[in-house]
Order: sequence, then structure tokens, then C-alpha cells
Amino acid sequence: MEFTCQAYRELLSLLRQRGYAFRNYHNYEEAPRCVILRHDVDTSLSQAVRLAELEAEEGVCSTWFVLLRTDFYNVFSRAGAEALERIRSLGHEIGLHFDEASYVPALEPEEVVQNIIKECGLLSALLETAVSTVSMHRPSKATLEADFHIPAIVNSYGTTFFHDFKYLSDSCRRWREPVLDIVRSGEYNRLHILTHAFWYHEEEKDISQTVGDFIRSAHRERYRQMAENITDLESILSEEEVL
Ligand SMILES: [Zn+2]
Repeated sequence: MEFTCQAYRELLSLLRQRGYAFRNYHNYEEAPRCVILRHDVDTSLSQAVRLAELEAEEGVCSTWFVLLRTDFYNVFSRAGAEALERIRSLGHEIGLHFDEASYVPALEPEEVVQNIIKECGLLSALLETAVSTVSMHRPSKATLEADFHIPAIVNSYGTTFFHDFKYLSDSCRRWREPVLDIVRSGEYNRLHILTHAFWYHEEEKDISQTVGDFIRSAHRERYRQMAENITDLESILSEEEVL
């Protein structure tokens, strides 16, 4: 499968053709044949919005997991909060993407659960609605094996979503298995598909282009941020001088 917007649309359309109902972590049980689409937002909220809009155009809803403790974006900034609001307005769900490695010293298992509850509370306060799903960002072996049960929060890393579902992921821009063939075969009644909006563009880009373009785009973004904080930035330094 190519990493393009068009290829992603075709994946959605193939899922529909093969009779998979698009469900989420709360309502999958009613559907005998379904897919849960999960997105981990590791680097960019604006790229998340772009793919969330594409899904809405295709009549599909999914779950978008966002980090609170990342240097890449800020869900509490105006732009960040607007991005989450946009995703929700399209009918998608926002969940917590939890990064245990952002805590020093390392968390004990019960502290992982306590901090998931705390971060879900913060995100719920921002969104003014209950946040009731969590996924893990680069989980440790202990967390992967823990099968955490968290009151009122669905753990997408719970054994159900790995054992009762066929799990497919594009992590590091590489499907471990041929996703299209697996969907086409219809072999599994329940699919759990993780994608990262970061990899999908109008034209296919390889991994170095994707990462390189993202790093370079940060200059432009930082310039705009400075322009909001320094009067007449253009007279001090033009945008071209920093690109
Ligand atoms: Zn992640």
C-alpha cells in the first residue's frame, strides 16, 4: 500500500466493500464484523486534522490519541485546542496517548495507571467532555504485558484489542503485514488498524523526505510564532532568511 491520501481512501473503501462496520472502542461488540481505526498523533496536530477531514469526507469516524507531554505540539495552546475541536466536530473521538517515558524517574505500574487517570482528567477538562480511551506511546515491555484495567477508561492496549482483533499498524512507515491483502481476504471479523497521519501525503514521500519536510516546516512555523510576538518582525528578519 502506498503512503498517499488516495491509497488511504482506497483502504477505507475496501474495508466498506468487505463489510467491515466502522466502530470505536465503546461500541464494537454489537457489530459481528467491524474495524476500529486508531490514530496515534506523535508529531503534528495539523496533519491529524488533514486526515481526520479526509475520513469525514468518506463518512468514517475514528479515534485520535493525542499526547499531553510532548515537545512537538501543545493541545492547550489556541491552535492545539482548535485542532482538537475540529477533529471532534467531524464526529471523531479524542483519546489520550500516554507517554510513560516522559516521566522521571520511571513509573511503577500502579503509577502508570494513576497518571493515565490524571492526564485523562486534564484532557477532559480541556475538551469539556469525558475522555475514556487511552493508547500508549512507545510502551515498555512491562506496560505491553500489563493489560491495565483502568476505571471508566478503555485501554486500547488491553488484550481484547490484540487477541480478539487482527491488529495492523503502519508504525515507522512500514506495514508488518500486507494490509490490503488481509482486508481483501475477509479472513478476520475484527480488525484494529493503527495509522499515523504523518506518513500520508498527496504525493508519496519516502521516509527521509517525510521527516526532512517536517523538520524544515518547523522553521516556517517558528517564524509565524515569532511574528505574533515581535512587532514588524519582517523589518528585522525576513522569512526567506531563515528558510
Ligand atoms: Zn505514539
